[in-house]
Amino acid sequence: MALRLHNTLTQELEEFRPAQGNTVRMYTCGPTVYNYVHIGNLRTFTFQDILRRWLRYRGFTLNHVMNITDVEDKIIANAAKQGKTLKEYTEIYTQAFFEDAHKLRLEKPEHIAKATEHIGEMVEAIETLAAKGCTYVSDGSTYFRIASFPEYGKLSHSDFSGIRSGARVDVDEYDKDDARDFVLWKSRKGDEPYWEAPLGHGRPGWHIECSVMAMKYLGETLDIHAGGVDLTFPHHENEIAQSESITGKPFARVWLHSEHLQIEWQKMSKSLGNFYTLRDLIDMGYQPEVVRYLLASVPYRKKLNFTFDGLKAAATSIDRLRNFEDRIKTKRLHPGVNEAARQRATEALRRYEESLDDDLNTAEALGSIFEYIRETNTALDEGTFLEDNRGDALRVLKAFDDVFDVLKPTQTTTTLSDAEVDQLIAERAAAKKARDFARSDEIRAQLLQRGIVIEDTREGVHWKRK
Ligand code: AMP
Ligand code: ZN
Repeated sequence: MALRLHNTLTQELEEFRPAQGNTVRMYTCGPTVYNYVHIGNLRTFTFQDILRRWLRYRGFTLNHVMNITDVEDKIIANAAKQGKTLKEYTEIYTQAFFEDAHKLRLEKPEHIAKATEHIGEMVEAIETLAAKGCTYVSDGSTYFRIASFPEYGKLSHSDFSGIRSGARVDVDEYDKDDARDFVLWKSRKGDEPYWEAPLGHGRPGWHIECSVMAMKYLGETLDIHAGGVDLTFPHHENEIAQSESITGKPFARVWLHSEHLQIEWQKMSKSLGNFYTLRDLIDMGYQPEVVRYLLASVPYRKKLNFTFDGLKAAATSIDRLRNFEDRIKTKRLHPGVNEAARQRATEALRRYEESLDDDLNTAEALGSIFEYIRETNTALDEGTFLEDNRGDALRVLKAFDDVFDVLKPTQTTTTLSDAEVDQLIAERAAAKKARDFARSDEIRAQLLQRGIVIEDTREGVHWKRK
């Protein structure tokens, strides 16, 4: 079965193939760098990383562009408050984003495009739209007239035909009920940063940057355009209107939207203040790969409710995977091959691949891996897993880790001395004796985070460094 992805445009599961050769030309909307990204944003970026890795696993080459929105209302307000230039201010959060992405093992897209480095091209695009009669000027700002694009609404599947032409909106984010002509070029206000252009002193609206940068690097019709579900309207709808008005061609063949990370069943967002950053969670002692696992474990089109229990369960799952890997790599085995064990590996791999081919069903894919681990552990206990089965098991683990990438522990700089390890192990034993299992689990997790693996045996606790 070939890879199938859910296209927001057609609302159908479609077999995916790039339009030209083997290369997937993909654009994803990147962060607005006005603050640290939160783990909700990172859920969307993790989904895109899983997508990248699965496309490559399936033999495709990637040409992926991600933008950095480094000029926008909130950025301008914050930079002014701190007495920084736009560049000084955005550089801090751009670098912070790259650091977080690196910690979360998100592959770097082939191109990172900053909005402020493409102002000239944006002005040209707006002029082209003006020449085609899709814009008008009011109070010095240029607006896109949505009535000039009869297909407006086709992505969000909304009917905007009754909309009053001439009603305008200057802000970049608004609801469907508020659909109005949107701003392409905002005239300069007060001492806000601005660019000189034939359109007047001003700055671009948010939507035009993605149309321009996507088409500059990837051509007029992309294979995939992706983002969080909140971008469907108005951002992506506006991108389609701008791009297709310029070229007369479909802007993207496949549109993918990932669902939100929630907390207490509400969208995690900066404006609600109900968010954690990756830095917060690392400071609490969680390894980045635990966050990665949690974010990747729920299929991207399902909401994910963030809880600390969920995070702990992710840490336990990673432990189980690493212990299994360790066992497979180090256990002494009898020579030969066991056919049933070989069959299990083939079957696990088949189910794993089928699940990810099915619109990246990560939950099913993980299910097949854990079932394989359970069965194989039994076979190892019973002696029905032989030397020549080792390679099959390692292949299953590699297929898993090529996409999920959680097996290698993050190197922590702080190492524990032997005496400190013994001390923690003694504390754990005391906690167990007092039946405080939450505390004893916590100590075990702490040790693991610092690269210490412990094993309870009949002779007492053994420990080793990873
Ligand atoms: P922004 O920095 O606000 O432009 O957002 C960057 C990306 O994060 C976009 O693709 C958003 O759709 C996505 N995003 C924002 N909040 C959440 C959330 N709670 N869960 C998942 N994705 C989100
Ligand atoms: Zn965008």
